[in-house]
Amino acid sequence: MSHFSYQDGVLCAENTPLAQIAQQFGSPTYVYSKAALVENFSAYADACKQHGRNDETSLVCYSVKSNSNLAVLNLLGKLGSGFDIVSGGELLRVLAAGGSPRKVIFSGVGKSREEMQLALSHDILCFNVESIPELHRLNAVAAEMGKKAAVSLRVNPNVDAKTHPYISTGLKDNKFGIAYEDTLTTYRVAAALPNIDVVGIDCHIGSQLLDDAPLLEAVDKLIELIDTLDAEGIHLHHLDIGGGIGINYDNDQPVAVGDYLARLFAKIDAWRKQKHGGAPIKVLFEPGRSIVGNAGILLTEVQYIKHGETKNFAIVDAAMNDLMRPAMYEAWHGVLPVKQSTAAAATYDVVGPVCESGDWLARSRELAIEEGDLLAIMSAGAYGMTMSSNYNTRGRAAEVMVEGDKVHLIRKREAASDLFALESLLP
Ligand SMILES: *Cc1c(COP(=O)(O)O)cnc(C)c1O
Repeated sequence: MSHFSYQDGVLCAENTPLAQIAQQFGSPTYVYSKAALVENFSAYADACKQHGRNDETSLVCYSVKSNSNLAVLNLLGKLGSGFDIVSGGELLRVLAAGGSPRKVIFSGVGKSREEMQLALSHDILCFNVESIPELHRLNAVAAEMGKKAAVSLRVNPNVDAKTHPYISTGLKDNKFGIAYEDTLTTYRVAAALPNIDVVGIDCHIGSQLLDDAPLLEAVDKLIELIDTLDAEGIHLHHLDIGGGIGINYDNDQPVAVGDYLARLFAKIDAWRKQKHGGAPIKVLFEPGRSIVGNAGILLTEVQYIKHGETKNFAIVDAAMNDLMRPAMYEAWHGVLPVKQSTAAAATYDVVGPVCESGDWLARSRELAIEEGDLLAIMSAGAYGMTMSSNYNTRGRAAEVMVEGDKVHLIRKREAASDLFALESLLP
């Protein structure tokens, strides 16, 4: 069920009219639905429970980079979520939001020494390591601190996620993960390092996957590796399948999370029964988009209607700096008028005020709109605010979270003075 729907001709977030939010908080503003977030997280948590998993045998580590607002992290943490981070900054966010470092896993190809120290000082659950040089650096940093770093190796299973090349990460020729053929050698290196504790294996093959077949294929490959390593005396305690489940942007039909997890657990249970006397292995997930993507919209106001020679433009007060996905991936976002109208529609490109031709949010949309109308850019909860910038010295949008008929401001709109507060003149 969508938590953004028309009530009496007015688009609402849960029970709150979006026009009321624009009036109170201005625009552009990111609007999230608390109920949608809870529902989307619960799809994972409930499926884990249904398939006999508890906190010892499963953990959902929400991917912080998809939406890292403290209120979002705090809400998910209270629901029992762990966190997948890709920087020291994200760890500090998780801690500020009250998240448990014991449920944090640290992904990414370029962890600095300082980031390793920070994560080790908080005893995070696991580092997802992506190369042999990273293993050596982590071993050295842990040794200096008199600690042992828990490590999972991110394997590149070389399966085609069949998604956009920019968000596909599981094929041979991209920068992520350890090549499948090098896995055994790399585990041997890891197992021999005194300050590394080898605990798991992980992969993340891409994003916006509509079908779970590539994920299940990747799991088959990880299972094979776990058994091979077992025979060598390297025993892994967890399997982390990454994130990547897609959402509906434009008549997309993503696999239901419950169905995907049912197939995944059936596969894992059959394997454990056959080869390991039914002994469980902990299963980790790193979902981002499927939890927040459709839990948020970007609310924006039409500034001008401009009739060009071949095209009509709706110039709105949100821009590529607020929502980068269209400019970066030619991503499609639905555009809904906040007030339903019976006036004659025209075809518009919805564009922002930024001085770039790439600054567009939607193209060729039928809209019945005029200056001053509000629009909702749909499915903007993931990789929206977190990818935003201050290009053109535009303060970032405000963020609010709706709970029924209540609206909570969870990030103030940036003022221009905030944007140059860290800068200084020459002496
Ligand atoms: C971005 C990312 C995720 C989340 O991906 P979604 O497609 O948003 O679910 C998970 N794991 C890693 C390592 C990532 O980089």
